[in-house]
Amino acid sequence: MVKYLDLQKINASFEPELTEAVERTVTSGWYLFGAEVEEFERRFARYCGVGHCVGVGNGLDALTLIFMSYVSLGRMQRGDEVIVPANTYIASILAVLRAGLKPVFCEPEWETCDIDADKIEALVTSRTKAVMVVHLYGRMCRMDAVREMACRYGLYVVEDCAQAHGAMYNGKKAGALGHAAGFSFYPGKNLGALGDAGAVTTDDDELAGRVRALANYGSSAKYVHPYIGINSRMDEMQAAVLNVKLGRLDADNHQRREVARQYGEKIKAKELWLPVVDDEQAHVFHIFTVFTPLRDSLQSYLKARGIQALIHYPIPPHRQESLRDYAALSLPVTERIHREELSLPMSPLLTEEEISQVADAVNSFFVSVNG
Ligand SMILES: *Cc1c(COP(=O)(O)O)cnc(C)c1O
Repeated sequence: MVKYLDLQKINASFEPELTEAVERTVTSGWYLFGAEVEEFERRFARYCGVGHCVGVGNGLDALTLIFMSYVSLGRMQRGDEVIVPANTYIASILAVLRAGLKPVFCEPEWETCDIDADKIEALVTSRTKAVMVVHLYGRMCRMDAVREMACRYGLYVVEDCAQAHGAMYNGKKAGALGHAAGFSFYPGKNLGALGDAGAVTTDDDELAGRVRALANYGSSAKYVHPYIGINSRMDEMQAAVLNVKLGRLDADNHQRREVARQYGEKIKAKELWLPVVDDEQAHVFHIFTVFTPLRDSLQSYLKARGIQALIHYPIPPHRQESLRDYAALSLPVTERIHREELSLPMSPLLTEEEISQVADAVNSFFVSVNG
């Protein structure tokens, strides 16, 4: 059996430090707004190369709070538009909607599955205020092109870094390439907590302050509430866990690249589209994607051989009932990605034997369909 992601094995590899961190928090008697969160915020800001990191409850809240803050600061108005990649995980889109803004869907590039920078300009209107990039599957977007375009139209660039912890683009880390970024530390992410957690990174002092206030009931000081806020905080337990795991993030990403390299070497099937890597540092392989029109039968074939492969994601956002207003859009690249994508097992602890087992099964599937 090769699991898609063996979280139990991953977290066991952080022992005894992980359990020590949890026990330290339990016995400390202090569970919110404490030293662990402060330390994590300081270290993660330095890691990303930005002035501020604000710990929050989860990734969706991180992104939502960025847009809520722009509205609260008067830099955006309700009904303003934010251009988002049409093939993202639905959370990116929900963040825009929750802030009272309007998502405008942009097609991705087939080769990278990231937003197609050349297709952004045609979507810009007088109400466009921002472009949200999503470094999907762990691969950095073409940020030079996005930023040049955004700069020309005076748009904010917001990064959804939920899948891209530690990815680099031209010497800068994900989270430092736009005006603000949202991270998720959902357990299965490249940097994962033991529950929900998230963070906002930014160099914008005013924005960081507003995010912090809005995440804490819109308060500027205890029992003083100038803004309509929410309750979304990173707790001490999750921060303590993340402080242990952050130290190994770069090494883990390196291992993920090594797994990807081995998949590339061992998978011989010419019909299968594998990730193209031009810059090693720009992909942290949160998800190892392959593409084939025979996706569903390949998935069942692997399952029958004890290999768990998943689909990210089976239904595109504009085909979701909650987003029915977008159902009429023609998004052929997005739809093809959702039809053909399959995610092979990926983890920094995947063994060479497991990688070979997966690659052999993939190869034999294509031998069998080619008769
Ligand atoms: C995981 C994820 C999120 C949401 O993060 P949560 O912590 O689960 O709220 C947002 N965007 C993308 C691209 C994600 O993969």
